[in-house]
Amino acid sequence: MSKKLQSLFSVFQSEASRLSSKGMSMLPALVTLYTFFFILTPLLHEIYEQLPYQNMVLMYAGVSTLISATCFIAANLFFFVLYIKKIPYFENYRISDAPWPWETDPEGYKLKLRGTLRTLLLNHLIILPGISYIGATVLKNEMNLMLEGLPSGKDLLYNILFFMIVEDFMFYWGHRLFHTPWMYKRFHKQHHEYKISIGLASSYAHPVEFILGNLLPSALGPMMLGPNCHMFAWFVWVGIRTFETVDGHSGYDFPWSPFRLLPFSAGAAYHGYHHSHNIGNYGSFLTYLDTLFGTNRSYCIYRAKNDSLSNKLLR
Ligand SMILES: [Zn+2]
Ligand SMILES: [Zn+2]
Repeated sequence: MSKKLQSLFSVFQSEASRLSSKGMSMLPALVTLYTFFFILTPLLHEIYEQLPYQNMVLMYAGVSTLISATCFIAANLFFFVLYIKKIPYFENYRISDAPWPWETDPEGYKLKLRGTLRTLLLNHLIILPGISYIGATVLKNEMNLMLEGLPSGKDLLYNILFFMIVEDFMFYWGHRLFHTPWMYKRFHKQHHEYKISIGLASSYAHPVEFILGNLLPSALGPMMLGPNCHMFAWFVWVGIRTFETVDGHSGYDFPWSPFRLLPFSAGAAYHGYHHSHNIGNYGSFLTYLDTLFGTNRSYCIYRAKNDSLSNKLLR
């Protein structure tokens, strides 16, 4: 077998083992997805009808900010309980047995937490609504706001898949750019201060990175759809993207995570390696670009070496 064919075979082999290692956990993940898209969506439509849906600025800048902040706080509260309580069931899914940052240096971590919270407030409560305001006014966002055309569960699912693929593509290239020496030193280094990443670290980024590396890739898919994108789909996407990025930074890789069902999905172990080793693994939702461009080679070698030695994904 030629070398190229051999490496292609091993890519599919490791993907097959990733999916099969989920085992029965695939079931709750699928049930969560089905419940969200096909049972909860009509209920969420009713909430949408109560919103000031004719006002683009209020919806795009105001409600989006509220959804993003609420999801960010809810997801982090969930992980905060896991970090403090160390519940044995969830500990099985920790990606590393390294101590948390507050366990190794409690005083230093207090300072770090203060700085992190300041950055989070800036990014979530000033930058996000500010950029969204520009999107709604200067860039004249064309999204459909009206009750006619509220997407069904199936349409919503297609929309979200499209947004994920576009986001991942842009995120990958943006992230690679932020790893060039000039950009890294000035902007991206801040995000990498967390070697052991935690949920809060997901939005701990220099404002330039937050705008170009996080907000822009997330907004691009909906922008591409123009008036064919409904504000409701945008809201759902904002919620999903926020939960997913906290999940990806949490330090726990749950086999029942509904965000990791797509073929060649990334995850907390994948992005955790990016933080702990700072080599490759630039994708957000998916790994295929890293594989195509050889930027996850180091991670694949690491996993091949360590999988047999430890039940932890990172050591
Ligand atoms: Zn990075
Ligand atoms: Zn990160």
